[in-house]
Amino acid sequence: MRPINFGAGPSALPDSVLQEACKGLLDFKGTGIGVAEISHRSKEFTSLVAELENNIRSQLDVPPTHKIIFTQGGGTGQFSAVVLNMLARHRLLYPDLSDEQRVMDYVITGSWSKKAAEEARRVGGGASVHVAVDARKDSKPFDGIPAHKDFSFSADPALIYYCENETVDGVQFSNNPDSPASFPFHLLSEGRKGLLPLVGDHSSSFMSRKIPHLADHAVIFAGAQKNIGPAGLTILIVRQDCVVDVDAAAKLGAAPVPITMSFKAIADAGSLYNTPSTLPLYIASLVLERSKGLGGVEYFEIINGKKAGKVYAALKEGEEKGVFRSKVREGSGSWMNVVFDVLGDNAESKFLASAESQGMKALKGHRSVGGIRISLYNAITEEQTDKVVAYMKEFIAQNS
Ligand code: PMP
Repeated sequence: MRPINFGAGPSALPDSVLQEACKGLLDFKGTGIGVAEISHRSKEFTSLVAELENNIRSQLDVPPTHKIIFTQGGGTGQFSAVVLNMLARHRLLYPDLSDEQRVMDYVITGSWSKKAAEEARRVGGGASVHVAVDARKDSKPFDGIPAHKDFSFSADPALIYYCENETVDGVQFSNNPDSPASFPFHLLSEGRKGLLPLVGDHSSSFMSRKIPHLADHAVIFAGAQKNIGPAGLTILIVRQDCVVDVDAAAKLGAAPVPITMSFKAIADAGSLYNTPSTLPLYIASLVLERSKGLGGVEYFEIINGKKAGKVYAALKEGEEKGVFRSKVREGSGSWMNVVFDVLGDNAESKFLASAESQGMKALKGHRSVGGIRISLYNAITEEQTDKVVAYMKEFIAQNS
């Protein structure tokens, strides 16, 4: 029995997938050549890429208005790529605006959206970053989704950026449209012309549940290393009008876009402009084939909701007994990364050491915020969740 890996990413993958991948490393689809050795242009490999795309499209109901593309560079690579591609699009739409008149809206709800906004300032040239909302007041930690009334969006920005699940801070938009912690989509459509330039970082929640208003997005991106596979693969869902000719935009004064970051170059080449990350693509295809067999994203949405419900209930019990303290306000807590402090001298190290001795690993919070982080990605089963919940309850009983 392997220990349970509650790490935040790279994170656990299903045992059955890893066993299957061992076979593919030696013999991919009966070719006698391993998947890490075979040409990415072989028919066996190109069909794998097509199957993976179909699997994402059908499980998430991605409409034909949107392309699915695979690239590298992780979420961080997209912090730059979305700015360059969306500014190129804005340039083609409004060639006569000065750089100063171009604005990019950023919704800041945690460390990752904050980092993305910093990158937009770096690579955005003369365009400015408008902070549509900043959830962190007076340098306190990020602890929740702000009220809808606190959001202010620009009239016609080049992009509107948000991070669906803040992996470090454990803050996630609610998927219940009636919740005050839901994303305020209604504020975006009011009085706006044209298609929404909405960009979502879904790195740590992709394929864990349905994506509200998916069809209204310009770009959704996700690194694979949480719910889908190993690091090294980045998945994008891009609306066709955002797959723009970046060279034509450059002729009008937009910044040149490195070819490996051009959505159009990648999309036109069927995600094979250059050598893709073949092994992560392969493992991702096994993961999503398995998900499909289980009932797809709908299945995971139910299971993940139950898993999170159980962990948050134990956390609440611990709060009531003075043993734990949640880092996130009620309603904004992530289904994927539950973060909290263990109260008392040395209590955190005791919690971690004892969990480790019982086969539960990687529960330490991100180095920037400390505390505990329990990551509950798709590969973590309900049974494994029950084990950590029982452990939390036992810890509460012993320490209250
Ligand atoms: N966005 C989110 C929400 C993340 O969790 C991460 C990584 N943990 C990133 C972006 C950055 O991804 P990468 O390390 O793949 O560049």
